[in-house]
Amino acid sequence: TASVGGNEMDAVRNYFNTAGFDRWRRIYGETDDVNNVQLDIRQGHAETVEKVLAFLKKGGLEGVTVCDVGCGTGSLTVPMILEGAIVKASDISSAMVSEAEKKVAEALKSSNLSKPFKPPTFETNDLESLKGKYHTVACIDVLIHYPKDKAAGMIAHLASLAEKRLIISFAPETPFLAVLKRIGELFPGPSKATRAYLHTEADIEAALKAAGWIVKNKDMTSTKFYYSRLFEAVPQGNL
Ligand code: SAM
Repeated sequence: TASVGGNEMDAVRNYFNTAGFDRWRRIYGETDDVNNVQLDIRQGHAETVEKVLAFLKKGGLEGVTVCDVGCGTGSLTVPMILEGAIVKASDISSAMVSEAEKKVAEALKSSNLSKPFKPPTFETNDLESLKGKYHTVACIDVLIHYPKDKAAGMIAHLASLAEKRLIISFAPETPFLAVLKRIGELFPGPSKATRAYLHTEADIEAALKAAGWIVKNKDMTSTKFYYSRLFEAVPQGNL
């Protein structure tokens, strides 16, 4: 049976160090070696990153500590650093972490920074092993790798790392997406090497609530092949 911890986590790590790394590095990159489905996912994901940044900038980012959990190739880490955030970027895949480091170095070289910046720290680790306290924790498009029965524990751990703000996105479980997933259209190509898990809004809100957090803002991105529900949560009482 599926569980994160044990075999499934190993499978996810292995996938994002090999075929998954190659696939997602291209999807999250700028080069044109992507097919139409991948291009659609790239554009959808870029919209999510824009929406996350909009949430983050409202509260301010300069000098703010952020943990980017499951940072991938650094799509969110890079713009946060350019806004002056103090970022810890972590991922279960060492290939992803190296790529994120590379992207940060490139961005810092090519940008004329008007704001002071702090170089991020990087960590290769599964998110359950992350420690520390951060003003903000961001975890974008990672819950798709968590089966339903592991989602609440994962969210509780993220909440324990965050002091003021938790930003989390997930592929929402809707009748339409459930059908797409069943016919294998939602995650086409080699990504089928890992399972994809959808989550209901109610489940994610309940998990946040159980951890003492409340959803303050929501957003949603949907393209043809990319669906991401976005929550910004704050500790209960801070709303
Ligand atoms: N957050 C990034 C973004 O939006 O650009 C990357 C999203 S990508 C779909 C999912 C990432 O989560 C991969 O880089 C993968 O290695 C990472 N990941 C999956 N399970 C993880 C876990 N248990 N702990 C830490 N990272 C994990």
